[in-house]
Amino acid sequence: MRVGVVAVLFLGFASFAGCTWSKPKPARRILVLALDGGTWDLLDGYMQRGLLPNLAKLRKGGVWGPLKSIKPSSSPVIWTTVATGKTPEKHGITFFVRFPTGNTGQPVPVSRTLRRCKAIWNILGDRDKDVAIDGWLITWPAEEVYGRMITDRAHYGNVEKESFPPGYMTELQPVPIEKVLKVMPSFMSEDFDFGHMDRNSKDPEERLNFLVYDRFVRAYARDEFYLEAAERMLDDGPLPDATFVYLRGTDDVQHGFWKFMEPDKFKGVTEEEARRFGKVIERYWQWTDQAVGKIFSHFDKDTLIVVLSDHGGGPAVGKYKIITKEYLQLSGSHRNTGILIINGPGVKVGKEIDFASVYDITPTLLAYVGLPVAEDMDGRILKEAFVPGIANGSAGTIATYETGKPKPIEAAQPDKPSAVDKKVLEGLRSLGYIN
Ligand SMILES: [Zn+2]
Repeated sequence: MRVGVVAVLFLGFASFAGCTWSKPKPARRILVLALDGGTWDLLDGYMQRGLLPNLAKLRKGGVWGPLKSIKPSSSPVIWTTVATGKTPEKHGITFFVRFPTGNTGQPVPVSRTLRRCKAIWNILGDRDKDVAIDGWLITWPAEEVYGRMITDRAHYGNVEKESFPPGYMTELQPVPIEKVLKVMPSFMSEDFDFGHMDRNSKDPEERLNFLVYDRFVRAYARDEFYLEAAERMLDDGPLPDATFVYLRGTDDVQHGFWKFMEPDKFKGVTEEEARRFGKVIERYWQWTDQAVGKIFSHFDKDTLIVVLSDHGGGPAVGKYKIITKEYLQLSGSHRNTGILIINGPGVKVGKEIDFASVYDITPTLLAYVGLPVAEDMDGRILKEAFVPGIANGSAGTIATYETGKPKPIEAAQPDKPSAVDKKVLEGLRSLGYIN
């Protein structure tokens, strides 16, 4: 402590004396913004056309590039890898669902209790860094953190253990469908009839209505919920040291509406349909850009901002075609490369980096705040993104941040699906991920 005080006094004196030499310093705060399914194949063009001013500005002033993903291309698995720096085998979230033994083969969606190691917010919190986690996948049931957490099931409304501290922001209710219907005209020209939707109908209009409900209405309502939560979190007292916000809607609309954007790559898309739904993806990204701009506005320049996605996206054609009954309606699928942007104090400016992976985020953030990287993590520090003296690994390594034994896999959560589990399963079914 005493050394710290002396250092601060010295730096204060140096700047007072007009000394121009300044050692680069990491930012006081970190913001990690997780945008599911982002791909440069789309975002490059959108940025060049000026559609995403906030993300484009961030990219221009920082480091950016592709982010290599892992298999399986399953968002719960990958986002947990991002937050732990570890392989799925190590962190314990290996799929969307698990099939508990002795449960007659019924799937149960994975949840946080299956995670067998610390997430970066645990590591930072253990060192008294105030953390805020909002909507990040596989955080339910809420765990005790040094700060606050809104889990990925909070948007269903009145879910047990939806947040930490207990009761935190439980007054925030699910976004009503009327609110979504109101904004719908700015995304598509659709006479949406909520009363007539059926995924398996012979009537194409009823099938389209289902698609709009499933891929747009739900996605927008979810994102809007966590954006409102983010606003409240960031308005609530001093800004957290590390904030983690996850938005999923970009991936949802890419799964649902790709064929209308590129009708030539698919059979049977009418001109009329392409006209009605062809801009949904583009406009969703524009809307997301505005929303993230609002989040950025809470933070000053002394913030490291990391924007990333778990995997990319593209048309579900050729080898990317997915053949399940549920997928008939859908037309976008994953790609193995997502996006990465890093911007902030100590970050190089206007540089493209090529070899980052989802494993590298946690080690890089640890190094950035001056903590050692653990040897049981599977990523590396993205040193190429920073100026000399920042995130250079000078804190060295430690064997592990884990304390105690990892939990046995099967004992981690109850085997019977709950009511909310069923809603989660319904969402997974509509993506064709499970039967
Ligand atoms: Zn997806």
